[in-house]
Amino acid sequence: MSIALLITDRNLSTLYHGLQMQLPGVDIQCWPNITKPEKVRFVVAWQQPDNCWQKFPRLSVISSLGAGCDGLLNDPLLPENVIITRIVDSSLAEQMAEYVLCAILLIKRRFNDYFKQQEEQKWQPLAPIIGKKVTVLGVGKIGDKVATTLVACGYQVVGWSRTEKSPRSYPMYYGKTQLPQALTDVDFVVSTLPFTAETKHSLNDDFFKLITNKAWLINVGRGQVLNEQDLLSALTNNYIQGAVLDVVENEPLAENHLFWHHPNIIITPHVSAITDQQAVIAQITENYLFMNAGKTLNNRVDLKTGY
Ligand code: NAP
Repeated sequence: MSIALLITDRNLSTLYHGLQMQLPGVDIQCWPNITKPEKVRFVVAWQQPDNCWQKFPRLSVISSLGAGCDGLLNDPLLPENVIITRIVDSSLAEQMAEYVLCAILLIKRRFNDYFKQQEEQKWQPLAPIIGKKVTVLGVGKIGDKVATTLVACGYQVVGWSRTEKSPRSYPMYYGKTQLPQALTDVDFVVSTLPFTAETKHSLNDDFFKLITNKAWLINVGRGQVLNEQDLLSALTNNYIQGAVLDVVENEPLAENHLFWHHPNIIITPHVSAITDQQAVIAQITENYLFMNAGKTLNNRVDLKTGY
């Protein structure tokens, strides 16, 4: 039996050699050099090639290379009856918490304005932004770490999820009906939501109108969750003050996109949390062995909810 790596956007050397070390004797085939597709039961995929699945008649498991699985679930030719798994890594959550804290501090202490002032050699003290209330949309593996990190730093954090949860070290709201309460008087809204049929473009006009306090938006989940045109309108109409976007609908951001030069939008190129290759190797290895032993796999994606 063998594993196929259907990953088109990066160098696979570390992953390939790491899996070979952990699984001696297992044939690891890398796209586009798949010579024995009939032997493949386990695929690791990211930005998989179009129309790739029909080559694998014995496919049982597809593992996303990252925490998100929307690139797989939105593939119209994804085979039915396969198990989808994803990577869950504490270092991803820690990196994300650091990024969000950094973004909040940068805005509060006006670094974004001071960067512009420095370009103009302008010496002009500005009042810091006082607000400390943060709403985290999506408090799963990553959002919960973001929320607890901010709580530890003295922020007033509120969490919002799809399903009901007991309060944690921060109050919890859930579902569309409780969203207005979750957004009351908020200063920073952080989205770690996955891209699903339900979350697509859910950060839209209606959403921005619920933000009564001219908050900043920080989107580190997925770009497709945000309606980009509605964000621009919300900024123009002063529903919100600004946005820090690590993810956008179409990556990389198009050269002529209005976000590039908007004075109140800060863009980073999808870098808020980078998957640790060693964690990937360990998790793929374990799930491959579990598959062969007929055990329940770790970090399975629920195909009904899409995350
Ligand atoms: P997760 O553990 O599955 O958590 C997802 C959270 O979103 C859960 O709290 C879930 O609610 C909530 N949610 C899903 N649909 C919702 C809806 N319709 N309404 C309200 N809440 C909803 O996922 P994770 O590991 O934290 O990862 C989150 C996302 O981060 C990934 O899907 C990926 O897109 C993104 N990500 C981005 C980067 C980057 O570099 N920018 C890196 C890694 C991951 P319940 O708790 O009720 O289920």
